[in-house]
Amino acid sequence: MNSRSNCALDLLDVSHAYGDLTAVDHVSLHVNEGEVICLLGPSGCGKSTILRLAAGLEALQQGRVAMQDRMVADGGLGQSLPPELRGVGLVFQDFALFPHLTVARNVAFGLGRMEAGARAARIAEVLDQVDMADYAGAYPHALSGGQQQRIALARALAPQPAILLLDEPFSGLDARLREQIRDDTLHVLKRSRTATLMVTHDPEEAMFMADRIYLMQAGRVVQSGSPDAIYHRPVNPFVARFFTATNDLGGVVQGGAVQSPLGLLPAPGHADGAAVQILIRPESIHLVAAGGGDTNSRIVPAIVEEVRFLGSSKLLVVRLESGENRSLTLRVRHAGRHLPELGSQILLQLDPADALIFPEGREGGDLYRRASTEIRALSAG
Ligand code: ADP
Repeated sequence: MNSRSNCALDLLDVSHAYGDLTAVDHVSLHVNEGEVICLLGPSGCGKSTILRLAAGLEALQQGRVAMQDRMVADGGLGQSLPPELRGVGLVFQDFALFPHLTVARNVAFGLGRMEAGARAARIAEVLDQVDMADYAGAYPHALSGGQQQRIALARALAPQPAILLLDEPFSGLDARLREQIRDDTLHVLKRSRTATLMVTHDPEEAMFMADRIYLMQAGRVVQSGSPDAIYHRPVNPFVARFFTATNDLGGVVQGGAVQSPLGLLPAPGHADGAAVQILIRPESIHLVAAGGGDTNSRIVPAIVEEVRFLGSSKLLVVRLESGENRSLTLRVRHAGRHLPELGSQILLQLDPADALIFPEGREGGDLYRRASTEIRALSAG
């Protein structure tokens, strides 16, 4: 049963080590009632460990875990409420349905002791919620992957958990099915107003599902916020690159701006003379028609060297044609229907506000230098 508390889950300064390996490093996060929160990050950054600590499947070493304002684990005091008393619902990547039980009995498993009529009513209600009312008597092996995922979700939702914990719940599904199931799942979670913490390594999935994202790197939260804020205002190059590959350039700030091959870019907050990294997303560079475009920013001619289809959009590799940056290679994402021909000349324009500018040498610097060396090598080739 939900209390009036506004906070379904609260992790306070949680750290966790496996032997010498620090898997989770001073992480604090909260999930409010009705919110869907994604823990996002590359494989091995500590996401699943956080989920297991929240569920009580892993003993808490340091920090505190509270649910609906009730302390459920305190690393300092060595106190911990067992998982079955925490009121959490769990869905794992492999769904973990019992093969010898029908769908209805799988769902009933989460309900514990309950009067028979109420139990049957709750099973029917939750199967209806996930659109599986006709499958109560079926066995898991007779269901598709997507249907099994819905049953796993129904089983986790049946006891009305204080919080639902999902660990890569869609990664076992094929790509076409995944989009639909993600959409359906989000509707179920929002309709039932179930507070949810979901682990994923897929940035598109996180942006689609989450009210807020916690982006992790090597055990730490590097940025948290709405998908829009994290995508458009990344705090460092690692965050920026986690969502899309970027064109990586460099420059030196003069008079509050930095000169780039695509024009002068404002660099507020960076001192004159400071070396900066300029990250430009492929979709931030636009193709413009001759005589068109925004007259306030530079229009740069380029030659199309490669075209790759990405479904609704195309990725172009283009080589700049003029000026001191002649022969610089850039990646451009083009959503228009018109497909430029290989070897043809096109005109490019960047909205200066879309360039991401960071101090040179900021976190992820080694990675940056490697990537930009590769791009420079490409440009020189
Ligand atoms: P993620 O979910 O982001 O992939 P995990 O939380 O599973 O990351 O793992 C974080 C780090 O801890 C990884 O380096 C992983 O190899 C390690 N790790 C996870 N579980 C264990 C364990 N039971 N014993 C030892 N090391 C572990």
